[in-house]
Amino acid sequence: MRCVDHDCTQDAFCPRCGYNLRGLTAARCPECGLTFPAEQWESGVLREHVPTWLDRCDPWQPHQVLIRSLYELLRGALHPGRLLRKLDLNGRVRRAVLMLACGMAWLGGLAAAGLAAATVVHTGASPAAALRYVVLSWVPAVVAVAFTSAVLVWAMIAVIGIPRVPRAGWRQHLRLLGYWVPASAAWALVPLILGLLAVPDVVFEVGGAWPLLSGVPAIGAFARRPVRGRSRARGRLLAGLGLVAAWALGCVALAKWWLPKSLEPPWWVYF
Ligand SMILES: [Zn+2]
Repeated sequence: MRCVDHDCTQDAFCPRCGYNLRGLTAARCPECGLTFPAEQWESGVLREHVPTWLDRCDPWQPHQVLIRSLYELLRGALHPGRLLRKLDLNGRVRRAVLMLACGMAWLGGLAAAGLAAATVVHTGASPAAALRYVVLSWVPAVVAVAFTSAVLVWAMIAVIGIPRVPRAGWRQHLRLLGYWVPASAAWALVPLILGLLAVPDVVFEVGGAWPLLSGVPAIGAFARRPVRGRSRARGRLLAGLGLVAAWALGCVALAKWWLPKSLEPPWWVYF
């Protein structure tokens, strides 16, 4: 059997413990005992498929779904590299759709609470009017822009091939989408909400750049595990960089065009 790195010159790390598998010919990590399917070993692209807490819950228990989706949202946002290296991409697609819906709902709720508080603090509007205003105008806009930006980041990751799955199909990509998009969108939304709470003038000055923060977790993951320079990977990398440019310009334009220009509630809120 041949080496995991094909020519015994490149480092290849165990996705569970980080042990360097360079030059090994048995499809097993000698440090932690993780074994690899023949397909992964032959392609030299290694990953571990670990089911999430949400994957193991009863979908007919709403409290379980809500608590576990919040936990997966926080874990994905704080450890995005884990989604790329260890998320079970062969798990149930329906559960990923559930995660996407619940994760975005949690972010919408967070946005409504944070933006209503910012409106009350900075304009002196009543809490009821502030909540009505942000739910009808701010929240749909910020959640939709953050969602769009995060989906485009997911598309770039899929094109460049960072999830490290040889011959990944739609099922694998949809699994990653469900868990990745809410975590990535949180990176755009939370700084925006905190900024509007603390220094709204600065946020309106900076304008539409905030959705680009959804790319932060991908940049971190890519810097840690760069794609190797094989010819196919290089073509993918160029396509990915083209997508990066389109994403950056598109998101900034979308945010500038769609977002309300002020926290001051308009007259119709009071009727
Ligand atoms: Zn290991």
